Amino acid sequence: MIPAQPAAEKPLPLSQATPQWKREQAEAVTSPAELLRLVGLDQHPRWKEQAERAQPPFSLKVPRSYIHRMQFGCADDPLLLQALPQAVEHAEVAGFSADPVGDLNAQKTTGLLHKYHGRVLLVATGACAIHCRYCFRREYPYEQASATQSQWQESLDYIAADSSIHEVILSGGDPLTLSDKRLHKLIDRIETISHVQRLRIHSRLPIVLPSRVTETLCQRLAQSRLRCIMVVHANHAQELDHTTAKALQDLRRAGVDCLNQAVLLAGINDSVEALAQLSERLFEQGALPYYLHSLDRVHGAAHFEVDEARAKHLVAQLRERLSGYLVPTLVREIEGESSKTPL
Ligand SMILES: *Cc1c(COP(=O)(O)O)cnc(C)c1O
Ligand code: SF4
Repeated sequence: MIPAQPAAEKPLPLSQATPQWKREQAEAVTSPAELLRLVGLDQHPRWKEQAERAQPPFSLKVPRSYIHRMQFGCADDPLLLQALPQAVEHAEVAGFSADPVGDLNAQKTTGLLHKYHGRVLLVATGACAIHCRYCFRREYPYEQASATQSQWQESLDYIAADSSIHEVILSGGDPLTLSDKRLHKLIDRIETISHVQRLRIHSRLPIVLPSRVTETLCQRLAQSRLRCIMVVHANHAQELDHTTAKALQDLRRAGVDCLNQAVLLAGINDSVEALAQLSERLFEQGALPYYLHSLDRVHGAAHFEVDEARAKHLVAQLRERLSGYLVPTLVREIEGESSKTPL
């Protein structure tokens, strides 16, 4: 996500008709001081200074329902650490850059990435409901690279012209921050392309703002002629509570296959215990672990990196503990490769 929003969706005047998730989105916390106060850490020696700091360029944004899942008074809470800006983000670290995965080079039309055979990724919007501090898109120039509605046409034309494309991936930003109206319009248009068989949505909203999984959304996906896959994004078992369980259950009832991708993050989930709990809880709630991404080396995220040897060791230990289907594939994205690279 980026600080300056593309002129995508005008903020709605909040009225009775405003869906609950939109209200929650509008009420998200954007100030470090407020976040720290809500979790009882504004006077904590580790974070006191942070509470007084100005907003960083990649601003803080976190929904209140997600804050409720943080442990009150816990200075190294795994959810807090994903959302709270830290002074170390400003450190220049060799090897960490603005576009670590070469997305700008892989653009076919504005907002369309065609890196891998058979599938394309459409950056449907630049907006997210939460700003994850480790995000590889934190420096992505969305104003230039995310499609506005009229630009979708160019991407859809590209997809229509290439019959090897069987799957369209909606990504971002977060595609579920689009209103139902805009999202449904986009899905309608994808459905008219006969060689497209699958619609995949990459979204963190079923986890960070589960109220986004509305009846309307589920019905729309259930009605689609496309096979629908939702790849959610949870990094820690503590993110999964009864609200995410309901969202995943509703998606599954609508015939949507649910998978999870996580990022391996130092101090958050880099232990066998944390990874095992995440897999077990995901499965309990209806999602299978898919990928465990090794961190993309984006500016400002170096403090989250787990070195590759340790990452491999963790996954090997995980494999000794869990059923095979509960072990995610550890991957890295390497610019120019024809798929994600398993480690
Ligand atoms: C990750 C990614 C995909 C999806 O890859 P899968 O291995 O199929 O999950 C597709 N396109 C782009 C540009 C990607 O970055
Ligand atoms: S929701 Fe996804 S795209 Fe948005 S900031 Fe978090 S990791 Fe990045």
